[in-house]
Amino acid sequence: MTQFNDYDGFFRAELDALKEEGNYRWFKDLERRRGAFPRAINRQEGEEREITVWCSNDYLGMGQHPDVLAAMHAALDKTGAGAGGTRNISGTTHAHVELEAELADLHGKEAALLFTSGYVSNWAALGTLASRLPGCVVLSDAGNHASMIEGIRHSRAQKLIWKHNDLEDLEAKLAALPADCPKIVAFESVYSMDGDIAPIEAICDIADRYGAMTYLDEVHAVGLYGPRGGGIAEREGLMDRLMVIEGTLGKAFGVMGGYITGSAALVDFARSFASGFIFTTALPPAVAAGACAAVRHLKHSQTERAAHQDRVAEVRARLDALGIPYLENDSHIIPVMVGDPVKCRFISDQLMANHGIYIQPINYPTVPKGTERLRITPSPVHSAGDVDRLVEALGDLWSQCQLARQPIAAQ
Ligand SMILES: *Cc1c(COP(=O)(O)O)cnc(C)c1O
Repeated sequence: MTQFNDYDGFFRAELDALKEEGNYRWFKDLERRRGAFPRAINRQEGEEREITVWCSNDYLGMGQHPDVLAAMHAALDKTGAGAGGTRNISGTTHAHVELEAELADLHGKEAALLFTSGYVSNWAALGTLASRLPGCVVLSDAGNHASMIEGIRHSRAQKLIWKHNDLEDLEAKLAALPADCPKIVAFESVYSMDGDIAPIEAICDIADRYGAMTYLDEVHAVGLYGPRGGGIAEREGLMDRLMVIEGTLGKAFGVMGGYITGSAALVDFARSFASGFIFTTALPPAVAAGACAAVRHLKHSQTERAAHQDRVAEVRARLDALGIPYLENDSHIIPVMVGDPVKCRFISDQLMANHGIYIQPINYPTVPKGTERLRITPSPVHSAGDVDRLVEALGDLWSQCQLARQPIAAQ
């Protein structure tokens, strides 16, 4: 028997296969400019260039907001760098306690629990609930994020995948289960790649009929929708219908961290049993303080949300005028459909090289083959001039790549 010892050889072969398929991930080396976002510096082959970012999840520019930066500076100066421990062993600081209270209030829940990221919050909360509820079955929307999928897998509970946003399929699957087993219906409000929105009320109605728990990921909606930024469930008056509302502090809130909100008992249960909560160092207090400032600001200010929606509508109208096809949806995400992985990467490279515009190409396996796209996320910090430059560049590249256009509606 020959001994296996070529570990790096194995890694390289796997990476070569990814490159062959066009699925290798190339990162940009960016430096965002404080106060000037969406401007950033891109470093490439020893060169530095100013570019405009059009694919950030800092949807409102809160990562640059003066209140957020001031809160982070103040906390850093007052308390130092790290939390110094897990939440259980000396790492629960006043900044964490305040932020959890703010988040529980945001979603109209009794309690909230912070995690180090949205990914960890889904993974740990779903993993814990599904593994600890005896005989639990999880009904997971086919479009769910990797963090939920991995949490459910880790729980080893039975999983049934229902067709994306398909109420009949969800109901049929629930109806076929025994009445006496616990069930969790796990889904998202705004789906990140298509930007479509779940029929939350109808899903809750069905879940109620079968005694299922409802678990909603509002990661792409918190801060952005609802009169206080509580998400789609807040906008639709449905927050009390959901047993868990999960969110991130890293997207519209502009900082970092994840959380769940729910009843006092549910949150205490996750706090007490979730390994991914217990055995890891708490977020730095300055991060919690910054996130808290962002949440507070967006509870009162409509300015950013209104400007965000205006900017999104403007980009859509300008794309319409050129017949550039994008997926229609009721959210802020504009997936411009290229439908070819090579052209998608080519357009992205050309935008960067010739126009200083950064839009990461989204190819398989993040989206199905044939639906390769440029996922554009306009924000209030993009100027009218930024929009002009984006749309003109896309129009030119569309012609250059001989991509089909939509019939242009009569004005
Ligand atoms: C980004 C994302 C997460 C993870 O949130 P992070 O805070 O970035 O870890 C969870 N769910 C969905 C749907 C996401 O898009």
